[in-house]
Amino acid sequence: MERLDHFMARANAAYYATHDPFRDFTTAPEISQAFGEVLGLWAAVTWDLMGRPDPVLLAEAGPGRGTLMADALRAIGRAAPAFAAALRLHLIEASPRLRAEQAARLPASATWHDGLATLPDGPLLLLANEFLDALPIRQFVRRGRRWAERFVADGRFVECPCAAPPAALARVAAGCEATDDAAVFELGEAALALAARLADRFATHPGAALFLDYGPERSAAGDSLQALRDGAPCDPLAGPGTADLTAHVDFAGLAAAARKAGAAAHGPLPQGVFLTRLGLFQRTDRLARTQPPQRALALVEAARRLVEPDRMGRLFKALAVSSPAMPAPPGFEGA
Ligand code: SAH
Repeated sequence: MERLDHFMARANAAYYATHDPFRDFTTAPEISQAFGEVLGLWAAVTWDLMGRPDPVLLAEAGPGRGTLMADALRAIGRAAPAFAAALRLHLIEASPRLRAEQAARLPASATWHDGLATLPDGPLLLLANEFLDALPIRQFVRRGRRWAERFVADGRFVECPCAAPPAALARVAAGCEATDDAAVFELGEAALALAARLADRFATHPGAALFLDYGPERSAAGDSLQALRDGAPCDPLAGPGTADLTAHVDFAGLAAAARKAGAAAHGPLPQGVFLTRLGLFQRTDRLARTQPPQRALALVEAARRLVEPDRMGRLFKALAVSSPAMPAPPGFEGA
């Protein structure tokens, strides 16, 4: 028997080490090059707000194929040469297979890490798209006044009674009505720990982190664990390591954890609003102008897929965590 977060960590480590995840799902940077480009410009403007520290770490967590960072660096090189000269590239990636793909697309000066802990000290800009959703979660079930935690045994859930839910969960549970006799509550301890660790760093050095991922605007009850195998939904508990396991990101919980640890948190904003404010369509139009009609249409269609509310624009959110003294990063002004 294995606690759900331990099961999920083991299953995803095996999955990312042995599979090409992009056969199972498509992510924003793979949809449009303008996505990585506007995030690169976001980093350049945020670097300005940080006081233009030189050197500065530009890091990405879970870079996948390296597409986002390759697009970001190209845009930075053109529009912000001083930032391009100051930045030191660091990549947080657990999968040796994906590290090799990233190395093929990104500058040879990049340094790889297993986690945030080994990043050198200093001013930091961190980007992460669809990274937090892959981090392990625990699930608790409330039945009336009793609580149980979910474990996995032989491909099935086993509930083990527990005295009380962890404090971070109690906050969520208190705000949710007990609509049915078995409400599931999720706790992403790894994501919360990451937010707290970033806040610690941002207290001593200027910095900002930008997370894009899917999840609700407010913490909510519900089982969001899902699995994709060969591009189709499947049972998350069957065949660990053969499917991509994800859960919704609790953005409100992350923002609260970052603030509690002394950082500023901005958002979450719907991805569509955020990307539109960053000028995704202006960038797309400029790209499209130089392309043959078919390709120009495809570029506009890709941007719309990222932004339209009934596609990726509303379920996906953007959240920034930054040094407390810094102004709001681009896109989050007044948010
Ligand atoms: N950001 C990319 C890839 C998203 S897939 C994109 O948008 O296309 C998730 C990425 O996070 C993969 O690169 C995966 O190997 C990495 N990853 C997942 N869990 C991780 C962990 N615990 N530590 C480090 N990297 C992890």
